[in-house]
Amino acid sequence: MREPQTLLEPLELDALYVTRPENVRYLSGFPHPEDAQVLVTGEGALLLTDPRYPEAERESRIPARILKREEREAFLRELRGRVGFEAEHLPYAALERLRELAPVEWVPTKGVVERLRLRKTPEEVERIRRAQALAEEALHHVLPLLQPGVEEREIALELEFFLKRRGAEGVAFPPIVASGERGALPHAGASGKRLQAGELVTLDLGAKVEGYHSDMTRTLALGKVAEELRRAFQAVEEALEAALSALSPGKAAKEVDALAREVLKGYGLDRYFVHSLGHGVGLAVHEGPGLSPYTEEVLEPGMVVTVEPGVYLPGVGGVRLEELVLLTEEGPELLSRFPRGYREV
Ligand code: ZN
Ligand code: ZN
Repeated sequence: MREPQTLLEPLELDALYVTRPENVRYLSGFPHPEDAQVLVTGEGALLLTDPRYPEAERESRIPARILKREEREAFLRELRGRVGFEAEHLPYAALERLRELAPVEWVPTKGVVERLRLRKTPEEVERIRRAQALAEEALHHVLPLLQPGVEEREIALELEFFLKRRGAEGVAFPPIVASGERGALPHAGASGKRLQAGELVTLDLGAKVEGYHSDMTRTLALGKVAEELRRAFQAVEEALEAALSALSPGKAAKEVDALAREVLKGYGLDRYFVHSLGHGVGLAVHEGPGLSPYTEEVLEPGMVVTVEPGVYLPGVGGVRLEELVLLTEEGPELLSRFPRGYREV
């Protein structure tokens, strides 16, 4: 990682006050970033937390200060000059409080630490790999549960339980188990609906390991499904393959998104693909770069992204296939290995 103080110069800041938990964790390694901040100054980065974390000094890669409320206020009063804050994260009321405490020039910033997080180090990739490997074990573990009569949420609970028992910090997000008509809801969660023969089931899951996430989706068939759904599956698979083969450093992210949409258009299904093609994955499940029609980002080696085309047919069902991919100088490397082909369980 670059020295954090190099962030200050281009913005003509004397300090940067970092509050977004993923950014705090990125800069410090501290595993309780919701209750901490990082102050970057010309001298380096400093973690600020409170007496609930007496081991902060040991748990943080950077120097840590454990401050009681009054001590913390006294500390912030010492700030001088232009101090950046994370405009996309700091609540307005918190900013007002900071202004009262430290009458410096508070400067809104956007995406400063996020930009550093776009390209992963080998250590970060290793954690994502471990999270992905655990999630795949969890998916293998629940396959026998995919039977008519089983509730979606039983499967989701079993996924979650498995991941925690195997030492994951937790799930990356509440697993999605969406069967039948519910498959047409891209972010369906998992409900009390029971699986039925002849349905497609979409399972979207990830694990969290040492702060890093994984994210993968598979759609499986419970026995024979209607021709319309079978065709949607084929379209999504083709769109996925087209997008994967186009992923390479130097490519505009929106071009890859457009390619997947083009394939779906060939099937007359593009209007049923209602979200972006993919997103970066790391300390947040959804982070930069976005693979969507609306981004100007260009792919770079070291980025970890998902590619997840889907088709959602209201009242009928849905298909989504999502791969987790590391971009290297040589091209894409699949981090997700679970077979994605059409499969009846
Ligand atoms: Zn997902
Ligand atoms: Zn995703």
